[in-house]
Order: sequence, then structure tokens, then C-alpha cells
Amino acid sequence: MIRVGVNGYGTIGKRVADAVAAQPDMEVVGVAKTQPNFEAHTAVERGYSMYAAIPERAPLFGDAGIDVAGVVDELVADADVMVDCTPSGIGAENRSLYTSYDTPAIFQGGEGSEVAQVSFNARSNYDDARGADTVRVVSCNTTGLSRLVAPLDEEYGVEKVRATLVRRGGDPSQNSRGPINDILPDPISIPSHHGPDVKTIFPDLAIDTMGLKVPATLMHVHALNVTLESDVTAAHVRQLLEGESRVYVIPEGLGLDGAGKLKDFALDAGRPRGDLWENCVWGESIAVEGRDLYLFQAIHQESDVIPENVDAIRAMTESADAEESIARTNETLGIGLAGDPTGFNDSERVGVETADD
Ligand code: NAD
Repeated sequence: MIRVGVNGYGTIGKRVADAVAAQPDMEVVGVAKTQPNFEAHTAVERGYSMYAAIPERAPLFGDAGIDVAGVVDELVADADVMVDCTPSGIGAENRSLYTSYDTPAIFQGGEGSEVAQVSFNARSNYDDARGADTVRVVSCNTTGLSRLVAPLDEEYGVEKVRATLVRRGGDPSQNSRGPINDILPDPISIPSHHGPDVKTIFPDLAIDTMGLKVPATLMHVHALNVTLESDVTAAHVRQLLEGESRVYVIPEGLGLDGAGKLKDFALDAGRPRGDLWENCVWGESIAVEGRDLYLFQAIHQESDVIPENVDAIRAMTESADAEESIARTNETLGIGLAGDPTGFNDSERVGVETADD
């Protein structure tokens, strides 16, 4: 069993902990939190040992009726792999903590690429992370773009990617984020930083990105134009993407005309937290003009990086190859819609073991 510690138990951390707990070859040693808020109580109910991320605050947990198993240093010492899910910038500050205990660590996309030896996307460069001590799982947007670029590049060759990223202003719980009533070019300067981030996965890729922020919390939506190196048909591209386990090609006729309905679809199907781990590509948007491919995809920012964290753990510990790890993660989480809407109910397999069971 790979013993995994999670430092930072917010949007990403709680999902990583649940995904790790669902793996037959992994266990959650514990989670570290700064404060005994509602998420701390949920973590305890789910059976995760609680560690104080800031040692001086440990008594606050006791006051709130939460038993603390120790402080974060003890969690790091005990874990085979730490997954840092703290806010952007804190992960880099925590790096020396992990190295001081020789504990391999995974960082998230809010950190700069220099935080780790490897920037990671399971579909694109799993082997680069084999045996690495530090890995950065790239951001939600970069993960979404990489999952598309990898098969397109392998099948047709990619001459140039141009992507406009319409980004949610904040996650549903981030009540300090915005805009509330505006449409912001963000950043105003072009190209945006997203293209260079994709190049941490595909160093030779020609890619330009433009970003906007809008008053939404549900998902990001990408408008893509990819110039391929060979002539293709829309039907061929569609078939290619339907063969990708972490790409859901939205079938026509389901009425899934936006991020709101996609999220409803996920909630209705019983997905945990309404998560959509897959890129959601609108099938009817896939269009080809010569060598130019166009499409729209929606990316659920809170969850698309979760299976990638699980695979990064296996890559670092060299406990499975890419194909095996991706298949196991998909199977245990219920990922892989393959264009069949009825397959969505497979997500009911996702079971988080609670303290009771
Ligand atoms: P979050 O704010 O929801 O959660 C971070 C948690 O870490 C909070 O519970 C916070 O209290 C806690 N924390 C703060 N300081 C800490 C410390 N010193 N030690 C331990 N815990 C601490 O943030 P998030 O959205 O989960 O983001 C985490 C990382 O994941 C960031 O790098 C972010 O860029 C990246 N990421 C976020 C998203 C997203 O859409 N939310 C998507 C992909 C990647």
C-alpha cells in the first residue's frame, strides 16, 4: 500500500483524499488543515486522521471536538508521498518541509513549474515522472488542453494551437472572487500565460492562448482552433476523441447546451460533488476546414486534475505503468463515458469509505 498524506484540505485536497481512498493500492495516512472548519469535520467523518498544518493551532481542533493525530511534520515523516493542495504559493514554501523528510511530494498547478522536477499530465508524459521526487500536476486548464493535444499530435501532428479560455471567476465556495457583473480580458496582454504552461508538458508545441474571466463558478469553456499537419475530417477527429477515456464527447440530442446542464447531469447521475473528471467536448462543435480543427470544450476546474494526482502517485512510486495506472484510476473513480450517456451511471461505483464502513 502506498501511504499518502494530503496537506491542504480545500477544493482540491478533499477530492484528492477521496480519490486516493478509493484506490486499492493506496491509503490516506492523514490530512493536514489549518483550521477546524466544516471541511475538517467532514474529513474526520470520512475517517481521515487529522493533522494540524500550523502546530500552534493544534489546540483549536481539540476545542472544536476534533482529535488531532499530530502536526504536519509527523504526517510528512509517515507518508510515502505527500500531495500538497495548499493555495498557490504556499506549496513552494512547503517544499523544504517535504525534502527535509525525504518524502516525495506532488504540487498543484498554482505553483510555478520550478517547484518540481516534472510538470505532469498522465495522458501526455507519465513516464517523465517515473521515480521523480517532486512532480507538479498542471492546472485545470493546462490539463484540459494537454488531454486534447496528446491524441491530436500523435494521430495527425499539430502545427499550431490557438485557444481562447473563458474562465470561471471563482469556485462556488470562493465568495471573495469575481467579477460579479463584468467580462474581463484576463490577462489583457496576449498571449496569456496558459500557452507557456502547456509547453511544460509539450516543449516543442506552438501554442498561443487568450484568457477571459466571466461571472460564473461552474466550469471553464475553451474555444479551440488547432492547425493540424495533415488533412482530416471532423468525423475522424470525433472518433479519435471518443476513444480517449478522459474526454467525454457530448452526444447530440441530450440537451447539454452549457456548463450548467453538464453540472446538473453530473449531479443527477450521483457523481460525488457533481464532479466531471473528463474534458467535455461538444460533439457537434467539432468542425474541420482543411487542416484547421475547431471545437468547444468545458473543463470542470475543481475535478479534472484529481485523477492526474492519483496517477502521479503511481508514476513517482513506479508502482504501475501509464496504461495500467490510468485504467485503474478510471475504473475506481468511474471515469470513461466514451460517448455513451448511459455509461454515466458507472460513477455510482465511486465509493468513499467512511469511518463507519
Ligand atoms: P483552496 O483554497 O480551496 O484550498 C486550500 C486549502 O489549504 C484551504 O483549506 C486552506 O485553508 C489550506 N491552507 C492554507 N494554508 C495552508 C498551509 N500552510 N498548510 C496547509 N493548508 C493550508 O484551494 P484549491 O482551489 O484547492 O487550490 C489548491 C491548489 O490547487 C492551488 O495550487 C491551485 O492553483 C490548484 N488548483 C486549483 C483548482 C481549482 O479550480 N480550485 C484547479 C486546479 C488546480
